[in-house]
Amino acid sequence: MTITENLQHLHQQIHWMEEKYKRPHGSVKLLAASKQQNIDKIEDAISAGQNCFGENYLQEALTKITTLKNHSIQWHFIGKLQVNKTRLIAQHFSWVHGIDRLKIAERLSAQRPSNFPPLNVCIALNISQEEQKSGVTYDQLFDLAHHVSQLENLHLRGLMAIPKPTHNFSEQFNIYQQVQQAQKDLCARGLELDTLSMGMSNDFEAAIAAGSTMVRIGTAIFGEREIKIPAES
Ligand SMILES: *Cc1c(COP(=O)(O)O)cnc(C)c1O
Repeated sequence: MTITENLQHLHQQIHWMEEKYKRPHGSVKLLAASKQQNIDKIEDAISAGQNCFGENYLQEALTKITTLKNHSIQWHFIGKLQVNKTRLIAQHFSWVHGIDRLKIAERLSAQRPSNFPPLNVCIALNISQEEQKSGVTYDQLFDLAHHVSQLENLHLRGLMAIPKPTHNFSEQFNIYQQVQQAQKDLCARGLELDTLSMGMSNDFEAAIAAGSTMVRIGTAIFGEREIKIPAES
């Protein structure tokens, strides 16, 4: 299958899932997770109409952003955030998923160029309580969300989740539903949020069933990842 065919197939699946789970048509966006994928594949996806891409590794991402600067692409940073990377992220991305500390959010806000629109951000919520994964616990969420929502050059859009991989649909759904509930709890406290960044190649149906508004899909679009994970990560 070509990248164009993969994208068409995914759009069709997303459309069916919106109907199946009574989600409004067009309520689920497709973010292409292009980390470790070569530029020619990203160009194929662009030709097929894809314009939102998610990257995890800053140096790799900056090379791609520079090379593809003549295309109108919305870049999302979906990798692990490190304090010493925030300036370049604030300067080159439209979205940052995975905020897990106030310090990172404060730096992104302070370093966002003043002539740019606010940086869209999501807070990473760790529901499966995995030690190695980043993200805040439910107990830490309200305080962090409150503070992030006050930062001048950030626009808090919602939550993201990267659950422990499992092939069991009801386990996937259960976790994603808890993320959706946490989002509702934040909204009940007065925050205006519109984004649930959840769902990857293996679990996006469960994520859509649980209210995802943005699925982050890599291998189902591009195939296996080709570029080595850089040492900087
Ligand atoms: C790599 C990655 C994805 C995409 O994963 P696939 O299994 O290739 O679809 C989604 N989200 C994040 C945060 C990732 O790092």
